[in-house]
Amino acid sequence: MPTPIVAGNWKMNTSLAEGVRLASLVSTTLGYLEGIEVVLCPPFVSLGDVEQATRGTSVQIGAQNMHFEERGAFTGEVSARMLVGICSFVILGHSERRSLFGETDGLINRKVRAAFEAGIRPILCVGESLDQREAGRAAEIVSARLRQGLADLHNVESLVIAYEPVWAIGTGRSATPEIAAEIMGGVIQPALADLFGPVVADNTPLLYGGSVNPQNIESFAQQESVHGALVGGASLDATQFVEIVQLTAAAKGVA
Ligand code: PEP
Repeated sequence: MPTPIVAGNWKMNTSLAEGVRLASLVSTTLGYLEGIEVVLCPPFVSLGDVEQATRGTSVQIGAQNMHFEERGAFTGEVSARMLVGICSFVILGHSERRSLFGETDGLINRKVRAAFEAGIRPILCVGESLDQREAGRAAEIVSARLRQGLADLHNVESLVIAYEPVWAIGTGRSATPEIAAEIMGGVIQPALADLFGPVVADNTPLLYGGSVNPQNIESFAQQESVHGALVGGASLDATQFVEIVQLTAAAKGVA
């Protein structure tokens, strides 16, 4: 089993002071936990301060996005090289980036490649919309997003995949653990095995994301193919996020 991971996606929330306070609360409680990786993904402007607030603990930092080019005339963008030294992870292909900012699988693939080249672990998000699920196309869509996002890659040792059904993100309506297992164990792992072989399929952490909270995390983390969670709303509350991490660690038998 890969080392479990729980990542908090703060999205466009928290001022600098709020972010530092949240990170300090989380790292005070979880900063010395072993057997599970805890990742905080604040907005770009808070990355440096949040990294300082967690320094010396095992809490790691992730970005919510990045550009695929190294440098240049890309006003408003941040490159992978700029994240090196601050971030160990970067969330790529989040459904909000796809739907609100027009990110395509091809663009996301370039970002994934740039993250690997910079030594930052990509958390590649894949998931189907409600229409696609109701049309019976969930497996096909997830498989296509995965294959296109990982096209032309060969060494994906540090890859993380988040299965995030679009209809479950920020809606309060989570998927069922059975749906998560069906897609993660039945679609994502076989696709990874097909692309990169069984060792990669067995060792790539798969996170469930979509309205995760302390009440439902246990039922997701108990699934064999679920190795952790990507948490949005609940990661803004230190008490809830800490509980989600502790419940995940217990369900995966690492606490
Ligand atoms: C997310 O933003 O990745 C997410 C899963 O959000 P929420 O937990 O709020 O549904």
